[in-house]
Amino acid sequence: MYSIVRSNKLDNVCYDIRGPVLKQANKLEEEGQRILKLNIGNPASFGFEAPEEVLMDVIKNLPKSQGYCDSKGLFSARKAVMQHYQGKGLLSLDTDDIYIGNGVSELIVMAMQSLLNNGDEILVPAPDYPLWTAAANLSGGKAVHYICDEQSNWFPDIDDIKSKITSRTKGIVLINPNNPTGAVYSKELLEQIVELARQHNLIVFSDEIYSKIVYDDAVHIPLATLADDILIVTFDGLSKAYRVCGFRVGWMMISGAKKQARDYISGIEILASMRLCANVPMQHAIQTSLGGYQSINELTVPGGRLYDQTQTAWKLLNDIPGISCNKPQGALYLFPKLDQKRFNIKDDQRFAMDLLIEEKILIVQGTGFNWHKPDHFRIVCLPRVDEMKTAINKIAHFLDGYSQ
Ligand code: PLP
Repeated sequence: MYSIVRSNKLDNVCYDIRGPVLKQANKLEEEGQRILKLNIGNPASFGFEAPEEVLMDVIKNLPKSQGYCDSKGLFSARKAVMQHYQGKGLLSLDTDDIYIGNGVSELIVMAMQSLLNNGDEILVPAPDYPLWTAAANLSGGKAVHYICDEQSNWFPDIDDIKSKITSRTKGIVLINPNNPTGAVYSKELLEQIVELARQHNLIVFSDEIYSKIVYDDAVHIPLATLADDILIVTFDGLSKAYRVCGFRVGWMMISGAKKQARDYISGIEILASMRLCANVPMQHAIQTSLGGYQSINELTVPGGRLYDQTQTAWKLLNDIPGISCNKPQGALYLFPKLDQKRFNIKDDQRFAMDLLIEEKILIVQGTGFNWHKPDHFRIVCLPRVDEMKTAINKIAHFLDGYSQ
């Protein structure tokens, strides 16, 4: 029989944020139902808009963006990223250390593909942003999950990390500020990670896409500013802070032990040239975004939309019997815990599906973030406060008496 099957490279690759529950939600929408989609951190779909001058720069530069550019990205964009980090104290950077990609997503895949031989291991947080696990596994490597401890503000458990380092471990992934937990790491914690990397010859991959989205007293410290003797690959982009997920603009910055990593870096260069270059018109948004007025700072303080929405959601979720949730320090999400004694959830994808069918709210089950137990879920805090309140009331109503 004529049949076409997918590659077994995809055996351990999944991305549940856009998985089976979303497919069901789309089906319900086609049938005319209104679904509140709290599964994806896409500010634009909740009425957030990019700064006007960022849009204007892209429009103005469109006519002269018709050709390919350098595989690493437009010089002006890379210069702007370089200066951004120089301003944070990283003086030894060069424009050649910066790669512009079609979102951070593309660069994560490149960073993994250039590094991993079959069976090589990468330490990835649990819970994680699942692209990291998927990209490591797709590259022939093995994502080994270290625990982030809910009792300690979701900080990585250093002893757990140590116990999982083997002769095959090549690197460690940090997501800071964290998706899905909302944690923002302290200098002490980051220094402990750097020390581990130093002792065990690891690269640190620091995903800092929420670097500008921090609340209250939380301060984001770019990991690259803490060490120059290990290789640090930092990821950030315009999607979240500048509300332009659809532009697909991100960057990767390589710092620290660059000389010792020449071979690895040459692999990244090959991968960057194979995809020719990132979308050129959108790269024009980088310079204005990073250099201009930072309107994101209005959104993350009391009275600002992101602050008010996240804090309201956090408080209301904690009022629901059987739910507990750590206070978010940054990013756009909450990762609440469901009391297993009360709800006895055995299959959290079924839980997400049941919530969708009954209340028309789409969330993502915790196991979709490589969390090891079916006792968490992630909710996106992007709807306006009133809509957020209604959604959480519906979740409370659904959970009243729910058990599997
Ligand atoms: N890293 C993290 C932690 C994310 O949450 C996301 C998107 O949600 C990405 C990377 C991908 O971002 P981009 O839009 O730049 O591809």
